[in-house]
Amino acid sequence: MTDKKEYAKAISCMPGCEFHDVIDSTNIRAKELARAGAVEYSCVFADEQTKGRGRMDRHWSSDAGRGIYMTMIIRPEDTPASHSPIYSMGAALAVCDTLTEFGLSPSIKWPNDVLLDGKKLCGILSEAGLDACGLIDYIAVGIGINVSGMRFEGLPWACSIESVTGKKAPARGDIAVSLVKNLKKVFGMINNNDSRRILDLVSQRMVTLGKPIQAERDGDAVRGIALKLLDDCSLLMKTDEGKETALTYGEVSVRGIMGYSPE
Ligand code: ATP
Repeated sequence: MTDKKEYAKAISCMPGCEFHDVIDSTNIRAKELARAGAVEYSCVFADEQTKGRGRMDRHWSSDAGRGIYMTMIIRPEDTPASHSPIYSMGAALAVCDTLTEFGLSPSIKWPNDVLLDGKKLCGILSEAGLDACGLIDYIAVGIGINVSGMRFEGLPWACSIESVTGKKAPARGDIAVSLVKNLKKVFGMINNNDSRRILDLVSQRMVTLGKPIQAERDGDAVRGIALKLLDDCSLLMKTDEGKETALTYGEVSVRGIMGYSPE
């Protein structure tokens, strides 16, 4: 038994939010809506995704009834594409704020994975559409949060709220309502040029800072200490060879030296 009926009801009571029993991907649907002119903060939710994706076209496991799979459309004004990573980081912050409201203690693994107990609870995939001048027309910010389920086939680093707490998870409808509220708050701050404040709040949540990390870039591994989150959302690290280098948001995956998380 899942809480699907209540979940669907909670979503349909939020203006601008649509709910699907099954969808290929909430990002695909949100991008269609955005291209058709959907207003900022419109959302797509689904009980199940058949083609959920993560960064670099990786699969995102989205079983029926077990998680929150949603995408919110953002429409920043006069914003170049290079500014889009802050929206993904802001989404991670909003997810953390929501989880905190439910008594949990999440953290962020740069750039935008949300962890509980050092395991991956949530992934984020943002996709931007640009106008003819190269400015952002829309960003579809996709979020997948594992709510229930004790085991994740082939994903030893994955967890759910239920698997970490050992208790029945809060209702998905309640989590979704809080998430939409926090996403609007964070994205509103970014749209009002308060990005540095967002980055400071993200930094406070990051497990990565001050820790030994291993960055995998194009098959090469670079080891060192994570130092600081820079204004363009890149991560400054000091390599074991003593060189400072900024890991650009995008093509890099970060791990702890001993495992998935630097915690
Ligand atoms: P990572 O550092 O975990 O590789 P990433 O940002 O490069 O993060 P994402 O886009 O967040 O990757 O997510 C894709 C990856 O997440 C997949 O390659 C898979 O390993 C893992 N994954 C897929 N489904 C889930 C899930 N439901 N829960 C946790 N992890 C998942």
